[in-house]
Amino acid sequence: MDLFDVYKIWQIEPVKAQGCRLWDTSGKEYLDMYGGHAVISVGHGHSHYKEMLKSQLDSISFYSNSVVNSLQVRLANALGKISEYDSSSLFLSSSGAEANENALKLASFHTGKSRVLAFRKAFHGRTSGAVSVTDNPVISSPFNSHHKVDFAALNDTEDVKRRLSSGDYSSVIIEGLQGVAGIYEPEKDFLKELRRLTKKYGVVLIVDEVQSGCGRTGKYFAHQFAGIKADMVTMAKGIGNGFPIGATIISPDFNPEKGMLGTTFGGNHLACAAALAVIDIIRDEQLMANASKMGDYLICALHKIEQRVGEGVISQIRGRGLMIGIEMSNEYAPVRDVLLRDFSIFTGVAKGNVIRLLPPLSLSVDEAELFLTAFESAIVKQGEILKK
Ligand code: PLP
Repeated sequence: MDLFDVYKIWQIEPVKAQGCRLWDTSGKEYLDMYGGHAVISVGHGHSHYKEMLKSQLDSISFYSNSVVNSLQVRLANALGKISEYDSSSLFLSSSGAEANENALKLASFHTGKSRVLAFRKAFHGRTSGAVSVTDNPVISSPFNSHHKVDFAALNDTEDVKRRLSSGDYSSVIIEGLQGVAGIYEPEKDFLKELRRLTKKYGVVLIVDEVQSGCGRTGKYFAHQFAGIKADMVTMAKGIGNGFPIGATIISPDFNPEKGMLGTTFGGNHLACAAALAVIDIIRDEQLMANASKMGDYLICALHKIEQRVGEGVISQIRGRGLMIGIEMSNEYAPVRDVLLRDFSIFTGVAKGNVIRLLPPLSLSVDEAELFLTAFESAIVKQGEILKK
């Protein structure tokens, strides 16, 4: 059987990983400034993470959601505390798309309405509802086209006000910090106004923190910089540090009914052990503070590089904490390839020539320096190629 060929892949196979480093089959070392797409939050191969998973595997790894699983209760308590959403409740699933799908569904059950307001350039996943609130027609099939979804421009308060005042909407879904779009942060005042308007018009506010959550921006959730509280927050990626987990955090205004939501794998014993270990590590190693510090360090150094390399190379530097977008000019977009090919550094990519930095939250100053030196050298190399 062949693999269904939908991924554009690098011909590199990592077989070992530790902290912010990876090694391929030939033993070559790579620096991980990508975190496997914002998934590796506490670093590869963390000893506490491995111990928690191994010891859980030795006792019980899975049973269904029809029996008591006290690990889920422990996880809900720990997550409530670290996220400051302790009065909310938790529904566990296995991916970001599923977490969003459940939130959209729950909002619709709650309001009796089906229309959703999403934002331009948004990405929320690939299941039917999640892809329909994603602003990318290329990945949406005719099968998904029946959903009632409108897209507003990010930070356009007037447009949002006009739409919500129609009374048609069940929910608004917004990323805490847009990732796939190329790292665009909603303005604080916009988020505050969005919170006020959704309350006023009885619309459920869902904040997708699948990529921006779990401490990546320096607070547990990116929307917390605006001082707002969502009705639902969705999570995945970093919460399991590679173990597939999705989570929907639900305000006490929503009443659960038996059978309303469900999943076979969500909240299984291994998933809970992984997520509990991640929370322990983020708290004990103060990784949110490190993400904030290292994010500032990188952004400040990147601005200095921007000045040194002159105009026409870097168009813009955006982001917060360890969620950074470096928008390159067309000519310098290949710098990402140069970084991997010549300097063995993994980074992410986004539309519009954006190099995305999403490293583990444990990134050190030495590792940041390694990246910065390589980045500047890669720009010089690309400049030489352009001159030829
Ligand atoms: N939401 C956001 C903001 C994402 O970045 C992603 C994945 O990149 C998803 C949802 C979908 O998550 P998953 O791939 O786990 O379904």
